[in-house]
Amino acid sequence: MPMPKTCNVCDSPLGDPVYQSTDNASITTMNKVIPGRTEVFFCDGCAHLQTTELPDLDEYYASEYEINLDTDEDDQLYKVVDGRPVYRADHQARVLMEKVDFPRNARVLDYGCAKAATLRKVVAAKPDVVPLAFDVTDKYVPFWNKFIADGNWATFEPRAEWNGSLDAVLSFYALEHVKDLERFLSDTHALLKPGGVFYFIVPNVYANVADFVVADHINHFSRPSLHAMLSRAGFEVFDIDSEIHDAAFVVTARKAAPGGREVPEADAVRTLRARIADMAAFWRDAGLRVRSFERELPADASRAIYGAGFYGNFIASVLKFPDDIECFVDQNAHLQGRRMLGKPIVAPDALPADVQAVFVGLNPQHAHRIIEGVAAWRGVNRRYFFL
Ligand SMILES: [Zn+2]
Repeated sequence: MPMPKTCNVCDSPLGDPVYQSTDNASITTMNKVIPGRTEVFFCDGCAHLQTTELPDLDEYYASEYEINLDTDEDDQLYKVVDGRPVYRADHQARVLMEKVDFPRNARVLDYGCAKAATLRKVVAAKPDVVPLAFDVTDKYVPFWNKFIADGNWATFEPRAEWNGSLDAVLSFYALEHVKDLERFLSDTHALLKPGGVFYFIVPNVYANVADFVVADHINHFSRPSLHAMLSRAGFEVFDIDSEIHDAAFVVTARKAAPGGREVPEADAVRTLRARIADMAAFWRDAGLRVRSFERELPADASRAIYGAGFYGNFIASVLKFPDDIECFVDQNAHLQGRRMLGKPIVAPDALPADVQAVFVGLNPQHAHRIIEGVAAWRGVNRRYFFL
């Protein structure tokens, strides 16, 4: 008999899945299709959403999960504002400095940090900050050596002598991957001084429905599940901001005495369960909707996909005739000129005029606004598909 599933946050037993992918294939955040069926559960105890770990995930992390290792600049695009790129590390550093008032000479650890690009920006702006870095691999050491003192970084295990000495622990997009949340939080709690700040960013599935189906995110937090997790681990929630960073929760908590467990209100949990049911329905229908639009197109109609990220890749993966796609369109200058699935990625301005149909592979909450904003496409007679 398989072990009964329980919630990663509050240990409540989980019932039937709210969603299972129909094919025996799942898409990851790195746009890689891997074998295995995505299964998603909702916890009625704390409104946490949880995805079953795929068996091949360890191998996937070992081989695929290398974000931007090839460059020193953190060139992950956060978004384009008025035609200018804003990079993720710059935005994250700005938000962090707005949210946390560091004491002088604050000892700040980026926990599970990869290149620690955000912390490096903070140190550039506040030179008295003492940076520390930790990750479960040694491949980022050359990046840390550029701005972190020997003894202030560690691989595989944080240094025991750091315990109780840190003013802040930072975690950017890590907790959604962590199965043993209790261990992660108790390690963080031990590292901090009393009153020290635990600051982290996790995806917000309620602002970006893609997070619902990505196979390598096993935790999808909500406000109630964040409160439940932090209060169980002895943290006092200071602030949960869902506006300041697109499609994310930016969480600021303080180390307090262990004790008070917050129990979510039943009404709030029920409301979130209903929203999750809508998301499950969205993904059950999405593939059928793409193929139905594809069927209606004349066989010789030239077509493109807008978006070379997760949603664009999803559309390509469910098309009956993906080879009929002429190109992908993306406003990210770093992607233009590259290829995805063997097709060129072009700027919106460079889309050939004879393309008659565009499958829009963007977050449905923003897709219409983004397409209406493409000046070069106004007045062009073309059919659009929106997810
Ligand atoms: Zn729970």
